[in-house]
Amino acid sequence: MTETNLSWGRPMLAIPGPSVMPDRVLQAMHRPAPNIYAGQLVEMTASIIPDLKAVARSTSHVAMYIANGHGAWEAALSNTLSRGDKVLVLATGRFAHGWADMAGFMGVECDIVDFGKRSPFDLTQVEEKLRADKAHEYKAVLAVQVDTSTSVKSDIGALRKAMDAAGHPALLMVDCIACLGCDDFHMDDWGVDVMVAGCQKGLMTPPGMAFVYFSDKADEARDTAGNLTHYWDWRPRSRPEEYYQHFDGTAPTHHLYGLREALDMIVHEEGLENVIARHAVLARAVWAAFEHWAQTGPLELNVVDPAHRSNAVTSVRIGPPHGTELRNWLADQAGLTLGIGLGMAPPGDPAWHGFFRVGHMGHVNVQMILGTLSSIEAGLNAIGVEHTPGGATAAAKVVSGA
Ligand SMILES: *Cc1c(COP(=O)(O)O)cnc(C)c1O
Repeated sequence: MTETNLSWGRPMLAIPGPSVMPDRVLQAMHRPAPNIYAGQLVEMTASIIPDLKAVARSTSHVAMYIANGHGAWEAALSNTLSRGDKVLVLATGRFAHGWADMAGFMGVECDIVDFGKRSPFDLTQVEEKLRADKAHEYKAVLAVQVDTSTSVKSDIGALRKAMDAAGHPALLMVDCIACLGCDDFHMDDWGVDVMVAGCQKGLMTPPGMAFVYFSDKADEARDTAGNLTHYWDWRPRSRPEEYYQHFDGTAPTHHLYGLREALDMIVHEEGLENVIARHAVLARAVWAAFEHWAQTGPLELNVVDPAHRSNAVTSVRIGPPHGTELRNWLADQAGLTLGIGLGMAPPGDPAWHGFFRVGHMGHVNVQMILGTLSSIEAGLNAIGVEHTPGGATAAAKVVSGA
């Protein structure tokens, strides 16, 4: 009992998923198991579907799974592709490669175009690639809207235009797991055929549910998809004749209560537009802090152009070993957990310790983000990394001017 430690208090988890969960969501889950055949649960499940569609600005179909994001990836591939099919994968970080690995396991040949770790898709290159595919061998284009490892955001509406300009009929399949409910997404207007999401990031619900949205065109592909299996089949899940078909078995009862509460907050109370606007201001506050600190010393935002940054997560370069030192100091001394630098350098390589990420997705407000940034400034001082003091003040200016 001799050393002072300032971390006691409510912890702050600023990793890019799972995000901070509202107490209301957790409390909604704290109840006895409901009847899974009739009554409240059945009615509540039906009410969740339109709100899930609203969050994606979608009038298409949506299937729910008891799964994490990886499950949603596999579900999307299972319903649309066969062994021997070919797809074009656009990579702006680790997660596109993860989705491609999964497709490879399912016998799908992946042509990966890697745009590096700091830039969005080069659409000229994508269009050329699609034009060159005269036989239309690519059955789908796999794209990640925000790659959580790099925090690079790509323009999905512009990708659809590039595909149309090339006259290519491939399905457009998009991973929005990191950023649904944080960055703008327009499934219908952008002509997205398949979109995958999880519940534990912008949707503020404990990990365990995943969603696959799909267009009529994608649903047609399901009829000939050789990789289709009973459990992943999206058709009964999205248009069940019996309630149990929603989940091909027992529903994730408590997750549904939590998700209902989260969607009430997002869609019916704050409003999706406002949710996204709040994320945009808080993200700008985060960037202002880092840009200020970075005027001297080794700190650098991974994504240089603000137009290609995400409202949900920010990847930072600080140089080894400072990333790990900063994260450790904040966890031990401030009660703040930041994200590791994922996919930026191989684990085991000393360079791995030169990165970290700040999650600013979901149930976050001004005091949480300014507290996070002020704590980071304290941490930079404590571990002795050169920086221009005053980043937290720069962030406060963004918020007070909003
Ligand atoms: C989090 C995330 C995933 C993986 O989700 P899990 O729930 O961990 O399986 C995939 N893609 C993106 C863009 C993500 O942010």
